[in-house]
Amino acid sequence: MANIRIKEDAGVDNLYWVNLDGKNLPATRNLTPGISYYQERLIHKGKIEVRLWDPYRSKLAAVLMKGYRELPIMSGSKVLYLGASTGTTVSHVSDLVDKTGLVFAVEVAPRVARELVMNLVAKRKNIVPIIADARYPHLYGAVFKPIDLIYADIAQADQTEIALINSDMFLDNGGYLFLVIKARSIHPLKPISTIIEEEVIKVRNRGFDIIHVFDMMPFDRDHGFIIARKIR
Ligand code: SAM
Repeated sequence: MANIRIKEDAGVDNLYWVNLDGKNLPATRNLTPGISYYQERLIHKGKIEVRLWDPYRSKLAAVLMKGYRELPIMSGSKVLYLGASTGTTVSHVSDLVDKTGLVFAVEVAPRVARELVMNLVAKRKNIVPIIADARYPHLYGAVFKPIDLIYADIAQADQTEIALINSDMFLDNGGYLFLVIKARSIHPLKPISTIIEEEVIKVRNRGFDIIHVFDMMPFDRDHGFIIARKIR
């Protein structure tokens, strides 16, 4: 029988740490008790049910595992999420922002978006699905300001520019950009660290303070993760 201990994160609403046989893993309080979305394990502590957050499936869980602690997603936050896919990470962000927050989830691929809607959005009231190309944020319609945080995980050569045009449109000063860099979508051969440095410069030059830059090892080899805050 596994030895399990659960404790609340000291700073982030609805974030928990589950000690499973000596290993600490992130988890979020399940907004929809009894339902899991990608076969993640559900764990109970009294009346609270948490969903284990897999760092091999979600880069946001990976940066938490790598020691990032000041996650600025709170109960009530409004998050614009670009590249929602079937909703693995979106589901945990939806737990974090809770009933009073909102996640605007943008996804361009219709078949993927259908799965997002049927498996996740249909069971949660705090996710607004937007089936659109994130290159054209003026067409979203449903998104309204202020957005507290933009999370961009779009595996495209122009992924940073897409995140930045969305930031220009929806972030006020003080708003956050969490940008996942899929290096091999940008250049097939350059060293990953060089690609990430070049994307960091683009973000800084567009009025952001760079707070953290992570590589994703050991969870993912070809990605970087930039955490930035708009200052002008
Ligand atoms: N963020 C997801 C997670 O952690 O669960 C994984 C995202 S996956 C790496 C990238 C997604 O971005 C794909 O589902 C893809 O269809 C979507 N995508 C790519 N280009 C896009 C665009 N221009 N606009 C909106 N979504 C896009």
